[in-house]
Amino acid sequence: MADFVVMLGPPGAGKGTQARIVSERLGLAHISSGDIFRENIKSPTELGKLAKGYMDRGELVPDDVTIAMIRERLERPDCEKGALLDGFPRTPAQARALEEMLKEFDGEINAVPYIHVPEAALIERLAGRWTCRAHGHIFHERYNPPKEAGRCDIDGSELYQREDDQAETVKRRIRVYMEQTAPLIEYYRQKDVLVEIDGAQAIEQVTASLMESVRRGL
Ligand code: AMP
Repeated sequence: MADFVVMLGPPGAGKGTQARIVSERLGLAHISSGDIFRENIKSPTELGKLAKGYMDRGELVPDDVTIAMIRERLERPDCEKGALLDGFPRTPAQARALEEMLKEFDGEINAVPYIHVPEAALIERLAGRWTCRAHGHIFHERYNPPKEAGRCDIDGSELYQREDDQAETVKRRIRVYMEQTAPLIEYYRQKDVLVEIDGAQAIEQVTASLMESVRRGL
């Protein structure tokens, strides 16, 4: 049985940062739907062209497109042992589709860490976020600064500010999260896999809480 972990939380809670650390420690593939969309925009592919408008507006890419993209990703050999999903599912329809797909792949959702942060902190976190051009590594000018301003510590590539991290788009993304994604908190609580994590702690403490909660589920 393959082990799957679903990371939940609003934009700016630290899902992406933590997903990279925790997936590596657990030896699970890291699947970030946002990263896959951004790679497709960079290429650019038909999928990227389609997704771009939605992303720039801070809206969700339609379910059918997103589900098909994730299905293709889950079919790759590095997901045989399982994966950590970061940014998917984001709607109840995506959550149901994931369950159906996991039946096919003989997988199981073992833990759903929900990283919560007070809403007022999210805008500041996103406004100060710097992302690496080459691989999407994430920094924050105050909470997780790179050693050299504007350069990724890990691969030396340029850091940039995501277009959708600008204040107006961020507000829209948070609203979309509240309306479409937040219902998943109850959905997974009912299934007894939800673990609440305080995302206001320091990065290392959040990682420690996550590792503990995920190991318990695996
Ligand atoms: P993220 O990097 O997770 O913040 O995602 C950036 C953007 O990609 C989102 O604002 C959406 O436009 C799109 N996106 C990422 N994941 C999904 C998803 N599961 N469903 C729909 N749209 C998504």
